[in-house]
Amino acid sequence: MPPREPEQVVDFPTLGFLAADWIEAHCSVPSGHDLGRPLVHDGWQLWCTVNHYRVRPAIEFNPTRPLLATAFHYRRSVVVGPQKNGKSPWGASVIIFEAVGPCIFAGWARGGETYECEDHGCGCGFVYVYEPGEPMGMPRVKSLIQLLATAETQTANVYEPIQTMIRSGPLDDVMKVREGFIRTPNNGKIEPVSAAARSKLGNPINAALGDESGLYTGPNKLLGVWQTMRRGLAGMGGRALEITNPWDPMENSAAQQAFQSRQADIFRYYRKPPADLSYGEKRARHKIHLYVYADAPWVPVDAIDAEAAELVETDPAQAERFFGNRLV
Ligand SMILES: [Zn+2]
Repeated sequence: MPPREPEQVVDFPTLGFLAADWIEAHCSVPSGHDLGRPLVHDGWQLWCTVNHYRVRPAIEFNPTRPLLATAFHYRRSVVVGPQKNGKSPWGASVIIFEAVGPCIFAGWARGGETYECEDHGCGCGFVYVYEPGEPMGMPRVKSLIQLLATAETQTANVYEPIQTMIRSGPLDDVMKVREGFIRTPNNGKIEPVSAAARSKLGNPINAALGDESGLYTGPNKLLGVWQTMRRGLAGMGGRALEITNPWDPMENSAAQQAFQSRQADIFRYYRKPPADLSYGEKRARHKIHLYVYADAPWVPVDAIDAEAAELVETDPAQAERFFGNRLV
């Protein structure tokens, strides 16, 4: 693994370490060789978690009216990465944390305070001890969460891992997987939506995930759907996550707009491979894959090399977007 990039220093307050520890205790790897093992946020995943949960300094906690989105430095996060680098399980686990984990700012720790699952209806025994000056978290009273996906991926990338994680861990006693949605405490829910399900759109929600937002465009209606969902979030003090492969720069997708926006309250993560390496050349392509999958040790880079080599023959731009993590 290459050394951490120098800018990846956590010199700000965040609920992200609580989030990562809570996720490790409640969510498991949903597929592959590590199936069922605790899901550990490491590398880019931990970096994105600590940034998504970065708390604004010097804010005050009001127990009767806690700050929601405005407690956080970023209003939303957009994470770009190559195929199979762990975006989907990351997004699934963050949504589970949003649903029943301590994702709301609950004041500053003097040190030694604890978050204990047994105080919050979960019998798993999880205890987190806060450091002095660390922000503390508490769960939402009621979570209303929507997941948007394209017609092609439907909900398989994120919604199915969420179901698997719930059924295979302690949250099976806290959340209930039903037909078409997941029930959370106090009549809350996590539900998948698509551009076709117009009746679900515009409802108040307090968290949302857009899967493959690099494919949300005006012509396919997903851009408008996603904007409608984000309006529903704004009214509730909710926040959004997007995860996507690099987009086609000709399509003006939701992800592209987020990256081109001048707003400073969007966390954008996109680690581009070195520009001097040519994707059309076999050895350089291998170096690009080593670079973009450095934080994803479960990915066999040789297999990515082989898959990309075949796709390069027929659709080089798609291969470079999917596996090379580049905008072309
Ligand atoms: Zn627990």
